[in-house]
Amino acid sequence: MNVLGVIPARGGSKGIPNKNLAMAAGRPLLAYTADSAKAAKQLTRIIVSTDDETIAGTARSLGLEVPFMRPATLAGDDTPMLPVLQHAVKAMRECGFAADVVVLLQPTSPLRRAEHIDAAVNLLERTGADSVVSVVEVPHQFNPVSVLSLDGDRLRPFIDGPLVTRRQDKPKVFARNGPAVVAVRASVLEGGSLYGTDTRALVMGGDASLDIDSPSELAQFASSMRIPYRHASEYQPVDIAQLRPGGSYKSLIEKRTHPIDDLVARFGRIPDELLTSRPCPTCGATDAALELEKDHMCIVRCGSCDLVYVNPTFDESHYKSVYASQAYQDIVRDLGINSHEYRVSRFGTERVGMMSQFLRVPPGRAPRFLDVGCSTGFVVEAAKNAGWEASGIDLNPSAIEYGRSRGLDLRTVALESTGFAPGSFDAVGLFDVVEHLLDPGRTVQQAVNLLAPGGILFLYVPNYDSASRMLMGANAHFIWPTHHLNYYTPSTVRDFMQRHRLVPELIVTEGLDLQDYLWYRREVLNRHDESLEEIADLLQFFVNAGCYGKNLRVIARRSA
Ligand SMILES: [Zn+2]
Repeated sequence: MNVLGVIPARGGSKGIPNKNLAMAAGRPLLAYTADSAKAAKQLTRIIVSTDDETIAGTARSLGLEVPFMRPATLAGDDTPMLPVLQHAVKAMRECGFAADVVVLLQPTSPLRRAEHIDAAVNLLERTGADSVVSVVEVPHQFNPVSVLSLDGDRLRPFIDGPLVTRRQDKPKVFARNGPAVVAVRASVLEGGSLYGTDTRALVMGGDASLDIDSPSELAQFASSMRIPYRHASEYQPVDIAQLRPGGSYKSLIEKRTHPIDDLVARFGRIPDELLTSRPCPTCGATDAALELEKDHMCIVRCGSCDLVYVNPTFDESHYKSVYASQAYQDIVRDLGINSHEYRVSRFGTERVGMMSQFLRVPPGRAPRFLDVGCSTGFVVEAAKNAGWEASGIDLNPSAIEYGRSRGLDLRTVALESTGFAPGSFDAVGLFDVVEHLLDPGRTVQQAVNLLAPGGILFLYVPNYDSASRMLMGANAHFIWPTHHLNYYTPSTVRDFMQRHRLVPELIVTEGLDLQDYLWYRREVLNRHDESLEEIADLLQFFVNAGCYGKNLRVIARRSA
């Protein structure tokens, strides 16, 4: 079967000047459709139909054929697609290529992929239909049972009958998405029809269905394709000896399972009656598959939203007692207090600087910042040094006591009972907090309520899709199911933020992945890798730049 891919790209265009060659992320728009067409397996030939020599030249440089030029009479603003395709079939036959099927690929659909093209051709072949057209599900608010028309200034249902407001009661309806792909038999085109009478649907996702029609859509697409290069000069190394003084890190790892050590010593496992099942903390679904087991606990992956989380867990009172326990206080004291000054200068200052770039505070007023789970208050201290009004809360008395001794406004209260009025803060920090929570959504919502409209939430969580886990698997120390109950990735943390009226404006990673890996090889595997140690910082920069660092950092704005 001869399948002819046709990319129509005429010179003149109204909405966007010279649209097909408009640059998006360093490449002409046409290049994105060329990529998907060339990667498709089902296209025998791929041609560009154009009246414009510049477009023809660009098309050839992209590896596309331009075997004929389209006549100017078929390149007007109001020329329909049917005669353009009929012309292409006829011109190709004159060049000795008899197309059985024509696949129309509009350059204005740059996110259609090769598999969509192949699926359309396969569907046409399998069903014997006249044509296959790509469609996208209509968003529920535009469903015909929801749309309204105006009668003067009075709203009327567009179609007769009662309005349907419940999403699940609405019929599924579809619209052509450009269309991004049309596969049609050449005989149907030559019979005078673009679609024929038997048309089948290729349903595509909303993301792949982008149809660029305006300069702002083009700009949006261009920025989404841009590779967010980071410059090596921005990289700030971490002094491990100052961050983890003495044997504090080793003792953290050794005391990792302190809340369950007694249980495991007595029963060999955690008795079932101490554990309770919970739904997915992001989406509430209950279909989850086992991801891995560690420290006698199970980590699962949500079948609906992909979040990785510990399930079953202990109940809330158990975790409260864990964080109040002497063993945990000792971990915090060894790791936190002894490195406090280093943390202020290295991490606190960095975080305050990052927040400054996103804050919207009227000139002359100091930013108001609350650090939730502030530990010893190293970020609060850096914010205070920068002239901010900064407060912190934490449930760990020894950490708070230390910070207060340094003159910081720190309080041992829970987030739900801070006494701060709603909207009190321009920025709220949740650093290394939500991974510990049974119900992280509740805490994030409480934090959002304390934000003024337009205020920012700054969140740190471990990155499940990090180099640490890729290098060490379940041995990565952040996989700590007795304490870390939720494991986010750049994509699941974005989803989580968006469910709480937060718009993520920055998602980046940093980490000590290489240092932690070297530590693991040295201390656990007894391997010494001097050459790897020499380039560890540079490798860490690459890891961070690719968004595979262990710490996910998210700045999200409260929508007004
Ligand atoms: Zn879920």
